Order: sequence, then C-alpha cells, then structure tokens
Amino acid sequence: MPPPPSPSPATCIQCGGDVPRLYRQYSPTVLKETRCAHCHRVADKYIEYDPVLVLLDLVLLNRQAIRHILYNTAFRHYWKLCVVMVLIEGYVTYCGVQEAHDGDPWHGLAAPLDAPQLDGERQFYVICVESLVAAAAFLAVTAVGCRALGRRVPLRRLAKALVLGSFAVFLWVPALVWTLQDGGPARRWLDAAFIGGYTFLGLTQTVSVLCSAPRPAAALVAALGLGAKAAARNAL
Ligand SMILES: [Zn+2]
Repeated sequence: MPPPPSPSPATCIQCGGDVPRLYRQYSPTVLKETRCAHCHRVADKYIEYDPVLVLLDLVLLNRQAIRHILYNTAFRHYWKLCVVMVLIEGYVTYCGVQEAHDGDPWHGLAAPLDAPQLDGERQFYVICVESLVAAAAFLAVTAVGCRALGRRVPLRRLAKALVLGSFAVFLWVPALVWTLQDGGPARRWLDAAFIGGYTFLGLTQTVSVLCSAPRPAAALVAALGLGAKAAARNAL
C-alpha cells in the first residue's frame, strides 16, 4: 500500500526536528525514507506501518506514535472524536448524578435515560453542555501551562493533542457495559481510577511531546488542566 502524501515540512518522530519530507519516491514501488539531519535516524518509520500498529503504539503511550499522528498524518476528524468524548463523559456524569439522587448505585444504569423520560433526557443534554464548558476550561488552562513551559502552541493543534491524549475516555464504553452486568461500588471506583490515571498519563505524554518538555513539568500541566476541568464541572 503506498504511504500517504508526505507533509512538507514534516517532523522527525524521534527528536521532533523539522525534515523537508518523510520519503522520496523513485517509482510506484520504490521509496526511500528520509533520515533526520538532527538525529540521523529514520524520520518517520510509521509511514510504512499498518495504522493498527500505530494505534497499538499509541495505546502504549509511545512518544513517536504520538508525534506521527499529530504532525505527519492528515487525520482531520478530531472534532468527531471530541463530540463522542463529550457524550461519553456526559453520560458517565449523568449516571453519577442519578446515583446521587436515587441512592441507587448505578443500578439505574440499566435504563437511566428512559426512567423519568423527558426530564432525564433534558438533564443528560444539560450535563453534556456542561462537559463541553469543562473541556473549554481544560483547553484554556493547558494552553496557559504550555506557555509557561515556553511553547506557544496554536490552539487548534493543542485541541487536537488533548483529544488524542484523552483517548482513554473511550474505555468508559466497555466499563459501562461491564458495570451493567456486574456493577458494584468497588468495581465502579476501580474503573474510574484506572481510566482517570490512564488519561492523566496519556495527557502527560502528549503535552511532553507537544512542548518538548520534561515529563514532570508536562505532568504538572496535565494535572492543572484536569483539575480545571473538574472544578468547572463542579461549579456548573
Ligand atoms: Zn530527528
């Protein structure tokens, strides 16, 4: 399968330096990968990888895979991922609110949306709007954090990076399904701790790549962003 067109300039996934292009194509079946002038390694080995392998490396929080997706691919559907994430987080928050009101530990999950019918549905959409506002607070605080790390990251790129770094939110889908089958408070807290921790690690690695910053500083920015998101959600 031919690789996608190389962005120009592109980014070396090893060191983050600029390279004029990722490969030279000599014929329909022969291409030569570019070596980075800064670190002298192959600039982007992933151009010949199957996307599934790239995704596996992303799940393993591989810095090179994050750089490849952020800088060297033409993936443009971040906003769709963002909408799905907001819906997932809204639903998780909605279930928590239902639990607090009913005192029924997520057994309402079996049919939370069709219980008080329209009231429940309206509440769900209100919570989704609140999740969107919380995500905006997250973006704003992280942008300030990146500035503090010495990088002025364009807002659009930062938003894409945060969506990419928050991919662990999708783990709520199987977690919710399993909670339906075997849900208890301990299981629920375990799921929340695991997904929250994984999201924090993903964001730390993404901010570190984006700002070329050491991990402790990136972890601080990620923690502040997530804290702002939680504070905004609680304030609404
Ligand atoms: Zn390099």
